[in-house]
Parts: sequence; C-alpha cells; structure tokens
Amino acid sequence: MNRALNFNAGPAALPEAVLKEAEKNWLDFNGTGMAVMELSHRSKEYQAVHDKSISLLKKLLSIPDDYEVLFIQGGASLQFSMVPMNLLSKGQTAQYVLSGSWSEKALKEANKIGKTFIAASSKDQKYRFIPEYNEDGDLDNAAYLHITSNNTIYGTQWHSFPSNEKTPLIADMSSDILSRPLDMSNFDLIYAGAQKNLGPSGVTVVIIRKELLEKSSDELPSMLNYNTYAKNNSLYNTPPTLAIYLLTLVLEWADKEGGLEQIEKMNEEKAKILYDVIDESDGFYLGHALKDSRSRMNVTFNLHNEEASKDFLHQAKEAGFVGLGGHRSIGGCRASIYNAVPAEHVQKLAEFMKAFKNKN
Ligand code: PMP
Repeated sequence: MNRALNFNAGPAALPEAVLKEAEKNWLDFNGTGMAVMELSHRSKEYQAVHDKSISLLKKLLSIPDDYEVLFIQGGASLQFSMVPMNLLSKGQTAQYVLSGSWSEKALKEANKIGKTFIAASSKDQKYRFIPEYNEDGDLDNAAYLHITSNNTIYGTQWHSFPSNEKTPLIADMSSDILSRPLDMSNFDLIYAGAQKNLGPSGVTVVIIRKELLEKSSDELPSMLNYNTYAKNNSLYNTPPTLAIYLLTLVLEWADKEGGLEQIEKMNEEKAKILYDVIDESDGFYLGHALKDSRSRMNVTFNLHNEEASKDFLHQAKEAGFVGLGGHRSIGGCRASIYNAVPAEHVQKLAEFMKAFKNKN
C-alpha cells in the first residue's frame, strides 16, 4: 500500500513504524489476549505503558527531577484556561506575547480569569515574525509570561527564548515539541496537544515545575487543578489509554532515530528543501514568514496571486499531496513537515513546486 503524501497540520502523519507496531499488537497486547484499550487503566500492563511514556518524555526532553509530567485531556485549548486558573492570582498580571491566532486564543481565555498584559505583538504585521519581547518591560507582579513556541497557522517559530528568571516562562509547544532539544530549565510550564509530533489527538502533555504546583487554589474543580494530576500520576480518573500507548510508541521511535539532536538535524534539512525552492523561485512563491522567524514545522507560502494559489492547490491535490491548503483563517498554502513526514515526501513536494513553476 502506498502511504499518502500527508502534509496535514494536525492530526498529522505518524511514523509508519509506529502504526505497524500498533497493528501488530492490536488484538493481543503483550500476550494479554486484549487490545491496549481493553485493559484496565489500573492493570500492571497498562501501568507499564503509562510509566514508560513518562520516563521516555523525561529522557528525550532532558526534564530535570524538579518537574512533573502530566497527561490531561481537553487539548491545548483547555490549557489556555487551566494555566491562568492555576497560576494567575488576584493582584497579579499575566503577560502574553501575541505571535498568532493560538496566542490570541490563549489570551482570550486568560482575560476571563484575571488581569493580562500584551508584552509584545506582531499582529499588525500579519504575524509574519516573532515580535521582539522587551525584558525591561517586565512587570514586578507578573504571574508568568506566555509564549507560543511555534505558530502553526502563520509558520513562524521562536529560535531563542526569553530568559528572565524573575517571571515564570510558559510555552504552548503544541506544534514543535520533540522537534529539537529543549532546555527545560528555561521554562516553568510547557504544554502540547499530542496530535502533531507526539501521537494521535486525545492526550495533552503538560510539564510543570513542581514549585509552581503550590500556586493552585484548593477551590478549583479537581479536574482543572494540576495537583490532581501530579498527586495521582495522571491516574486520578481514566486517562486516554490508547492515545498514551501510541505516544509511547512515538517516543520509542524518536529515541531509536537518535533522539532530539538527530531529529532536529532532519527537520532542518527538510525545511531547507522547501525554503530553498521558495527563495530560488524569483518571487513565484512568496514565503509568509520573515526569514529569521521561519518555522521548521509549518512552511507557509502564497503564489503571486490568489488564482495561482488556488490552481497550485488543485493540481497538488490531483498529484496526491494532502493537506497543503493554508488554515481556513488565512488561506494560501502550508506544508506541515513534522517529525514523521519523511524527507522523500518533502523532496517530492519540492520537485512538484519546481515543475509547477516551470509550467506556469
Ligand atoms: N496551540 C497551537 C500552537 C496549535 O497549533 C493548536 C492546534 N492546532 C492548538 C493550540 C489547539 O490545540 P487543541 O486542538 O489540541 O486544543
């Protein structure tokens, strides 16, 4: 069977080896005579999967001992609310850097909980770059600074992070977690929905500095309090067992690929293939992101006019490329090239782009 040339933004391509391994175990997981999703979440067989997932995340992301890894449902979108509910106290201000629609959504939810402040924004420049964050402007009573490390819709990515120890740094890493080595000590909390680099949808990974757990009020509903997850190894209630099993397989795959240094190298090479086509096209393809802010996960571009973009997308679809349309909010074209998208597929897209240009 031919695997699709899948450039979806999320849910997105998973490593073929992971899907095959899951298929092998589909009816009978480790000789239990049951599928993973038929096991009790209190069984020792499931517990082993759960614990392995946490220990592999710790290994791959080099997470120090003073952090907890939590599995929560509700997507990254629920974290837009849980972050301020747990960490934004009365009298404090939460700072948000606006670098795209997902940061705006995070800010919108925080505004319902407490006081916020826009620390930087590139909105009036169509989010073409990561805005400059002025650390001098840091407020004394800031609860945290929230950033979006990769902007899935606009195709921009932070390449270095603010490092002000005074203010806890929180990052939505939904679309670039596991794509490059991480210095976790720079961050106090990161979160990521799994459905891009980590696995299928259904589980959100939250990594939080233990010290921060003291801030959550006991008045919060249990399922919205980080402590409920931290105290119960994310097994207070039934976790999304199938999603966590697939996450474990993806993490094993990433480990076998050589870890995040190796994965970063592959991602740099894949992104370069497409950005080179854009840069060498004499303006036929126009990248949306400014060069310094370009994402290695989502390559966004337009053609010289809207009609040409439509024709490109139509012909790309006919040629078997999936998911190249830009987000419904901005249109244009977007190739999402997460960890699991093979370099050969990226090469095929580059060749298609060059051939399309030559024909037109
Ligand atoms: N943040 C970012 C950066 C995203 O790309 C997305 C989803 N594409 C979200 C948040 C929302 O994630 P979810 O659908 O898991 O709530």
